[in-house]
Amino acid sequence: MTTVFSNYVGGQATAAGDRTQPVYNPATGEQTGTVALSSVAETEAAIANAKAAFPAWAAKTPLTRSRVMFKFKQLVEQNIDHLAELITREHGKVHSDAKGEVIRGLEVVEFACGIPHLLKGEHSESVGTSVDAWSLNQPLGVVAGITPFNFPSMVPMWMYPVAIACGNTFVLKPSEKDPSAPLFMAELLKQAGLPDGVFNVVNGDKEAVDVLLTHKDIEAVSFVGSTPIAEYIYATASAHGKRVQALGGAKNHMVVMPDADLDQAVNALMGAAYGSAGERCMAISVAVAVGDVGDALVEKLTPLVRELKVGNGMNPDMEMGPLVSREHLAKVRGYVDSGVEQGAKLLVDGRDLRVQGGEEGYFIGGCLFDQVTTDMTIYQEEIFGPVLVVVRVPDYDTAVRMINDHEYGNGTAIFTRDGDAARQFTHEIQVGMVGVNVPIPVPMAFHSFGGWKRSLFGPLHMHGTDGVRFYTRKKAVTSRWPTGIRSGAEFVMPTMK
Ligand code: NAD
Repeated sequence: MTTVFSNYVGGQATAAGDRTQPVYNPATGEQTGTVALSSVAETEAAIANAKAAFPAWAAKTPLTRSRVMFKFKQLVEQNIDHLAELITREHGKVHSDAKGEVIRGLEVVEFACGIPHLLKGEHSESVGTSVDAWSLNQPLGVVAGITPFNFPSMVPMWMYPVAIACGNTFVLKPSEKDPSAPLFMAELLKQAGLPDGVFNVVNGDKEAVDVLLTHKDIEAVSFVGSTPIAEYIYATASAHGKRVQALGGAKNHMVVMPDADLDQAVNALMGAAYGSAGERCMAISVAVAVGDVGDALVEKLTPLVRELKVGNGMNPDMEMGPLVSREHLAKVRGYVDSGVEQGAKLLVDGRDLRVQGGEEGYFIGGCLFDQVTTDMTIYQEEIFGPVLVVVRVPDYDTAVRMINDHEYGNGTAIFTRDGDAARQFTHEIQVGMVGVNVPIPVPMAFHSFGGWKRSLFGPLHMHGTDGVRFYTRKKAVTSRWPTGIRSGAEFVMPTMK
């Protein structure tokens, strides 16, 4: 018996999808379910529910909305093991890492609990004689989120807690590869007291997405996924008059300076390159070895990559699980092949890994390349697998130039003991999120998350104060009570005295 994943609309599971797609457990290759690929009409039904729920939800006080978030936080905490298991069984990442993803998402819920404070506007007394002015931050209406496979709970949580707390209603179109976690979160939101129709889940593919991008009742679209789709989302939804924030792919470099604490840098690289099998938008996929540090770096890395414990993510002894799908495994293997063909030195080859009991799973071992150059495909493109490439450069300036020339600008890090170099790096690097001796500098929820260049389309980052700005519109009020001098009609541009 496999599970059928349909939609969650108006506070209940709703049947959908004449078209469906299989869902697999990537550790075993077994089909565990089928997911609905919603039609235009099914997607429109979700938007209509969200639209109907908007006036009453927007009219609730921010304090009432914040209390739903508090309750939701409690429910997620109580169910975290189950939620993490749902993620591991469809995504493949190890269970402890799946729990970590839920906790990072919960931080945004905690941030959204403070919405009464966050929604405060500005006030000026006496902008003119007996005239006061203030601003309000009001919700937009129905907003949509379209999310990737690699963080099925955390990435939606970058969006909907802030959107809903601001008073909007939400339609989520999660990845069709791992639908369980978003559907479970919808049930928890209902248990937390969220009124029906405020949060809806529509499973599907391009057909459903295109409705969200073009429908007249959608006010804003948040997207996270690959760069070509992010660009399409940004162009299409903007052309239909919507606010858009569309986060794309990445190629994150970690600079290792000659004075770095090498053991610290190597440990950081292991976790950042191979954690979640490299399927993180903030994964480090390029180690930039500056000066003469390259030999010692690869010497320390090589045995650790060989010894990585790879297997079913439900086994607590494992450090890395499988890739998400058979197709993605073939793509990552193809990148490793291309690296060898183009002359890079493959120090650790994970292509022939066999996992006992996981013969049909989508496993690949950790791969490590040395002597990689910037003209190679494995340097230029996002691999999104457990493949770390080492590029050797003579000096700091070359490292910075290389990173700034890359088309992506999501995250980066520098490992050094030199405060001056670190400060200069944070200033001049053309990347949205920067770590100093921190390999994966994902900002906390009360800061905002977003890359530069072709890693983000749109002016605002996600969550933090940018999130509140994205999901609200300002209204400026200027007010005078007619207790002062009553004057006649004025035909010149009003100015204040
Ligand atoms: P993807 O772009 O294939 O899919 C993302 C979403 O878009 C899914 O919901 C999918 O159903 C939908 N989609 C796919 N093709 C579409 C099309 N032609 N038209 C309309 N919608 C479409 O991405 P993915 O493989 O699920 O996720 C991995 C990618 O996401 C990587 O590139 C990774 O770097 C990126 N990512 C970026 C961030 C970030 O913060 N910048 C975070 C996580 C993941």
